[in-house]
Amino acid sequence: MDALQPVRGTRDLIGEDQRRHAHVVDTARRIAGLYGFDEWSMPIFEDTRVFSRSLGETSDVVSKEMYSFTDRGGDGITLRPEGTAGVCRALVSNGLTQSLPQKVFYAGPMFRYERPQKGRYRQFHQIGAELIGPGEPLADAEAIALGRDILAALGIVDQTVLELNTLGDAESRDSWRQALVGYFTEMSGQLSEDSRARLERNPLRILDSKSPSDQALVADAPLIEAFLTPAARTFWDGLRSALDGFGVAYRVNPRIVRGLDYYSHTAFEFVTTNLGAQGTVLAGGRYDGLVADMGGPPTPAIGWAAGIERLSMLLPASPIAAVPVAVVPVGDAALPAAVDVMQALRQAGIRTEMSYRGNVKRRMERANRIGAGFAVILGEEEVARGVAQVKDLAQGTQQEVALGAVAAHIASVRPA
Ligand code: ATP
Ligand code: MG
Repeated sequence: MDALQPVRGTRDLIGEDQRRHAHVVDTARRIAGLYGFDEWSMPIFEDTRVFSRSLGETSDVVSKEMYSFTDRGGDGITLRPEGTAGVCRALVSNGLTQSLPQKVFYAGPMFRYERPQKGRYRQFHQIGAELIGPGEPLADAEAIALGRDILAALGIVDQTVLELNTLGDAESRDSWRQALVGYFTEMSGQLSEDSRARLERNPLRILDSKSPSDQALVADAPLIEAFLTPAARTFWDGLRSALDGFGVAYRVNPRIVRGLDYYSHTAFEFVTTNLGAQGTVLAGGRYDGLVADMGGPPTPAIGWAAGIERLSMLLPASPIAAVPVAVVPVGDAALPAAVDVMQALRQAGIRTEMSYRGNVKRRMERANRIGAGFAVILGEEEVARGVAQVKDLAQGTQQEVALGAVAAHIASVRPA
């Protein structure tokens, strides 16, 4: 039979890939904990309306990237393309809209029917943080500082730049939108077909176009700055001074809009030049309307998500698996004592392995192949005397140690 392949745009995480992935999640979870965020886990599929209501019918994600299907009971189901809508749905479903603030961290797989390329997959993984409740720019700055500190703990913050923009409030955005429609209508002959369609339905989306000819036109489009209401301007000024307070460096980029409809005020992206076209590693913004879209009361919120695959690719060194100890029984009679020593080592928190068969030579070859730091060799004669030979495979030295003291001995001499 022919061998089956993974579905296009999906990847298996094995060995170093999985270690990098786990290191990103573990690190992010730890730093999020320092900021007072609790982890939530939502289902990876939801009622399709969770996404169609919130991300915007005209967004790329909803209009062409969702994995949607009707299940056997006739319900419209979608594999989640992102995490924020599900967190807001869960906030409402679990009756938490009056228990604010909620500070939520999550990690898990997301699904989008995209054209696969480096850093862009159909099943990918995100970590994310949502700070639901506060409407103050201090919260936006704190959420961004959390993102920055996670990148710093991963050792990759120096490869990124934080680009920051404001999308204003609804009133600012309405007048900006009119100005954009006026500007792009004059140029409509030069717009890509996609963007001509956006012009009617959602002109802000043109600013996010990946088409080079659109981008040339976007360069001279009107900026939000001129349309900010006094309240929106106060928020924008407050955000920048709060970021200074957290010691977060940024560059204002008036071209940043996010790909989803639910953002207002703050929009930001940590970008890198080290990943080719897929340069955005961590991105988010304020989404004050989303909880209401899920049937809850109007609730301010700010959050971000980061692509784990992209973060993994930037990691400076691969996280290494713990160096194991190999237990080497010489002859079947030594096996029971070998199992005892192996379990004592594991109880002491030391990664330990033993082959299932083979003579001493084979077993020592296997110890080298798995990169063991120590071999614990037990012959019949040693077992009778209640001792083992502990060989330091890096140094080439060997020492006789009492059976009951092997774990303590290795713990005391192995490199930290
Ligand atoms: P892009 O402009 O690269 O398509 P996006 O605006 O669609 O990104 P978001 O929805 O904001 O991205 O998701 C946040 C992060 O998740 C991105 O910055 C990126 O790191 C990661 N991401 C998004 N889509 C994919 C994908 N298909 N494969 C891998 N990572 C992804
Ligand atoms: Mg996208």
